[in-house]
Amino acid sequence: DLANSLDAALRQRARQVIPGGLWGHLNAANLPEGYPQYFVSAEGCRLRDADGREFVDFMCGWGPMVLGYRNPMVEAAARRQAEQGDAMNGPAPVLVELAETLVGMIPHADWCLFQKNGTDATTACVTIARAGTGRRKVLVARGSYHGAAPWCTPSLAGVTTEDRAHLLHYDYNDAASLQVAAEEAKGDLAAVIVTAFRHDMGRDLELPDPAFVRAAREICDVTGAALILDDVRAGFRLHLGGSWEGIGVRPDLAAYSKAIANGHALSAVTGNDRFREAATRIYTTGSFWCGAVSMAAAVATLNELRRLDGPAHMRAMGERFRTGLAALAARHGVGIRQSGPAQMPLVLFEDDADARKGAAFCSAALRAGAYFHPRHNMFLSCAHQAADIDLALQAADAGLAAVARMG
Ligand code: PMP
Repeated sequence: DLANSLDAALRQRARQVIPGGLWGHLNAANLPEGYPQYFVSAEGCRLRDADGREFVDFMCGWGPMVLGYRNPMVEAAARRQAEQGDAMNGPAPVLVELAETLVGMIPHADWCLFQKNGTDATTACVTIARAGTGRRKVLVARGSYHGAAPWCTPSLAGVTTEDRAHLLHYDYNDAASLQVAAEEAKGDLAAVIVTAFRHDMGRDLELPDPAFVRAAREICDVTGAALILDDVRAGFRLHLGGSWEGIGVRPDLAAYSKAIANGHALSAVTGNDRFREAATRIYTTGSFWCGAVSMAAAVATLNELRRLDGPAHMRAMGERFRTGLAALAARHGVGIRQSGPAQMPLVLFEDDADARKGAAFCSAALRAGAYFHPRHNMFLSCAHQAADIDLALQAADAGLAAVARMG
């Protein structure tokens, strides 16, 4: 009932004081009918919206929640640090502990720097690569997302051609196109930036082809450019040592954020010794970048992920969901396509060019208590247990029934 909806009232007030109601990808205006914009609380893998509805959550705050909302271990560590101090005149000792933890966990990393958002980290990687090589060109995959700064934002509003002057494009998983772009850069190639897997919005996810990843490594080895792994979205969900450890290819620089501190604001650049001197020379800072609370949360998060073997648990839960969903879809006679790593699954519908089936599925599942996403990869967490997956599958059953009724 809209008249009694606190969510609707908040949205109406926000439209007066927030341009467009909300900036960016969390704007619920982009979601199918019935999705809430505002949430009042969260615990484990459950979310409660402003109207008191509770959902099993499959978005995990778009990735940051990896151990469960308000994880007791992480929150205790954050609280202990908050009682001591957060943004001070310099960092707290936990800075060194966190850097040592990451360098110990991530094989390519000899050092790290910290920031707040993923965009800060990807941008710093590009700056370090340019400083270290003295070159300008950066190869970026067409359609890949690396953040919201002028050099990488998907919207060109307010962006100048000069902001993009030294970017060259290739196609993800296409080694030949990478080679062509590298040749175009001639002697001016500073970096190749690549996401952990292909996760462009609204199309099937693609795992990285090992031959493509090895080709990227080789181009950088031959030219002296930096291989930058943008692990902002996938980091700490697929592998604790970096998402390409399974392939056996190591980047020179990597960007992390999202899951690193279970919802506390933090990002990191990790790098190898080739780029240590460049990382020393660039000027990079922010008012909150030495904040100690998020660093204490990160140490607790990373230790807990290691103790639980988080990636293995999330994979098992993701596979339980994927297998169950495939069986339900077959029973309803609805054609679906599932793609991506099990920890970060995407569900799309066959014959759904106008996205109506995806919307009907998600709206019906939402009414039945599961928060899915129609176009973006979803996220599993260590808080998801078999019973939560089964509850989500019951909601998915209602969603698939709605799609089947569309004929
Ligand atoms: N790179 C990738 C691969 C991402 O998924 C994101 C965030 N969705 C970013 C960079 C930017 O991170 P942030 O929104 O924290 O700036």
